[in-house]
Amino acid sequence: MKPLTSFTYATQLAEVVFGAGSLTRLPAELDRLGLRRALVLTTPEQAARATELQALLGERMVGAFTEARMHVPIATARAGRERAKELGADCTVAFGGGSTIGLGKAIALDPGIPQIAIDTTYAGSSRTPIWGITEDGQKKTGNDPRVLPRLVIFDPLLTYTLPPRVTAASGLNAMAHAVEALYSPDANPIVDLMAEESLRALGAAIPRAVLAPEDHDARSLAHYGAFLAGSALGAVGMALHHKLCHTLGGSFDLPHAETHAAILPHVVRYNEKHAPEAIAAVARALGTDDAAARLFALLAELKLPMSLRELGLAESDLDKAADLATQRPYFNPRPVDRASVRRLLGEAFAGRLAEGRPRGT
Ligand code: NAD
Repeated sequence: MKPLTSFTYATQLAEVVFGAGSLTRLPAELDRLGLRRALVLTTPEQAARATELQALLGERMVGAFTEARMHVPIATARAGRERAKELGADCTVAFGGGSTIGLGKAIALDPGIPQIAIDTTYAGSSRTPIWGITEDGQKKTGNDPRVLPRLVIFDPLLTYTLPPRVTAASGLNAMAHAVEALYSPDANPIVDLMAEESLRALGAAIPRAVLAPEDHDARSLAHYGAFLAGSALGAVGMALHHKLCHTLGGSFDLPHAETHAAILPHVVRYNEKHAPEAIAAVARALGTDDAAARLFALLAELKLPMSLRELGLAESDLDKAADLATQRPYFNPRPVDRASVRRLLGEAFAGRLAEGRPRGT
């Protein structure tokens, strides 16, 4: 066990209900919280879920808005806000992943009603006070305690329908939160526990859930790991990995979760000598002695794209991406300079993982 140092740990008022079949508790939970006029949010692909929720919630549901989209375009946020105002909703019930929960967060800012999230992916947005809205091709983000969902239901039965590719990519997206939490500038022993346990759960469960989407134990363990990873993301600051993914998604339109998956092994390699305890915890959780190599091998096992080239980045964009990602200084265990980040991006573009330092040197 590593020696204890002084630390700060903050919690915010948010409840979590976890377990197979826990969706059925939604009506009682709304009653307990005194919420009577729910606006249900989904993506267009999950619109049928709104009809199912109407049957479950009855008069507690005043309507649905089924147009949630990735990265919360401002037009979608405005339309959702209007719907909430027209219907006099007193809360949103977001059924879905980060895109739907992100819309609920935009509505939590204006007209300012709380969100109940039924989280059906592994991305972790339901556990963070971070919002994002995209306007004129730029994603603005902010941190505001009002957007943290008041209550989150994690019902693994709802994740059986997550396609293998989304399961895999979203699972690695969650792992990235846990990895960066372990070497965060605000890292603390409580979050370390959550992060390492999350990696252990996700590392064991995601390959099984990809192979057998209805393997109940695997789905439960994966959802539990995602809950912990999201909680770590919401509790401490992130570093180079999240900055790179934000840049690649925001400025080059690369897909969110797959980009996290493809970049993670390279960032772990980049940081490993500068955050040895954190990366040792990652390796321990994944049952390996080379965390970066294990994460890289996972991409192949899970049939995920292994390079930024496959994800649609143009080689000519690498310089601009390196410029953007290093423009404003931010925390990272290994100092961030443009030349090293350009090299990392070149390796991620080619799908070639740099060699680690031979053990014992
Ligand atoms: P998503 O919400 O876009 O969902 C991906 C796709 O899967 C969608 O088509 C959705 O309809 C479908 N889907 C979701 N759950 C399903 C299920 N159980 N069965 C079948 N289909 C299902 O994907 P995501 O990765 O969860 O979220 C990505 C977005 O969330 C990005 O915009 C990202 O920036 C944001 N995000 C924000 C935070 C934060 O803290 N603010 C954290 C993580 C991600």
